[in-house]
Amino acid sequence: MENKLENLKTPQEDKILEVRNIKKYFPIKGGFLQRTVANIKAVDDVSFYIKKGETLGLVGESGCGKSTLGRTIARLYEPTEGEIIYDGVDIAGLKGQGLKDLRKNMQIIFQDPYSSLNPRMNVSTIVGEAMLAHNMVNKGREYTERVIEVIEKCGLSDYHIYRYPHQFSGGQRQRIGVARALALDPSFIVADEPVSALDVSIQSQVLNLLMDLQEQMGLSYLFISHDLSVVKHISNRIGVMYLGAIVELADKRTLYNDSLHPYTRALLSAIPVADPTRIKEMQPIIGEIPSNVDVPSGCKFHTRCVYAKDVCKEVIPEYREIKPGHFVSCHFAGEI
Ligand code: SF4
Repeated sequence: MENKLENLKTPQEDKILEVRNIKKYFPIKGGFLQRTVANIKAVDDVSFYIKKGETLGLVGESGCGKSTLGRTIARLYEPTEGEIIYDGVDIAGLKGQGLKDLRKNMQIIFQDPYSSLNPRMNVSTIVGEAMLAHNMVNKGREYTERVIEVIEKCGLSDYHIYRYPHQFSGGQRQRIGVARALALDPSFIVADEPVSALDVSIQSQVLNLLMDLQEQMGLSYLFISHDLSVVKHISNRIGVMYLGAIVELADKRTLYNDSLHPYTRALLSAIPVADPTRIKEMQPIIGEIPSNVDVPSGCKFHTRCVYAKDVCKEVIPEYREIKPGHFVSCHFAGEI
């Protein structure tokens, strides 16, 4: 369902990205004729926007569809349905040169710097090859100078350019991944679990680098993570995903202090606290996450929700604005 209130209140020119009713289904083929017998509903009717210079965090358990959503927005996947409005233009159906042009403006940083960097390429090629492909620099001195400029921005040094990925630590490799994303001077970056593969001590360095770059370059981020503490550190607003849909979205302070959806509350109550004298009230959650092929009827969360009533099994809750900027999909939001 389209999020009309949200769309009305934020002027189009303030948004860098708006996703409207986006779906991404993966067909399951079967039988002699290999017909589609079912669909994996990885992303199922999601709408939100990101303002220029903002970071929207997206959290949820593994398999909730957040990475598929990020990759669909970055057009690594073809959306099944819906609109992806980037800087005023619907990019959902882009192909060929249009898609190539989009790559210049929208980049993605992947989770695992070990597997996302080609081990046979040195830093100069990893960071610079896309600049050549887009005719942004000439080969030779200009190319080298531009690569050095980008990697230095990311906390690496000029002497690193002829080294290979295996010669770097995990944190440095992710800095190379960030430099590769920045090489084309994009305005929007999908960061897909960019610090999950790193030691906790290194995570904050990479997060701070992303925040510094955002300030310097006016970047906007969609920041995807399963870790609520990480998302809290970097995001302005946060959306919580469950089984392919956003169940709650609000600014950071509201989400952490006044969440209204039982699933968000359960996730928040599971974050360990540093102070052992502060006992948190655990919010219960029952059972296992259901399959996104055979999605529960009504509210998708009803099979795990301790507050579920009969209506929850039958009627899909509307994704509605409970307070300004605070969106929740629960029949009893504000009452439980
Ligand atoms: Fe729980 Fe019902 Fe709200 Fe879903 S709609 S979260 S089942 S109370």
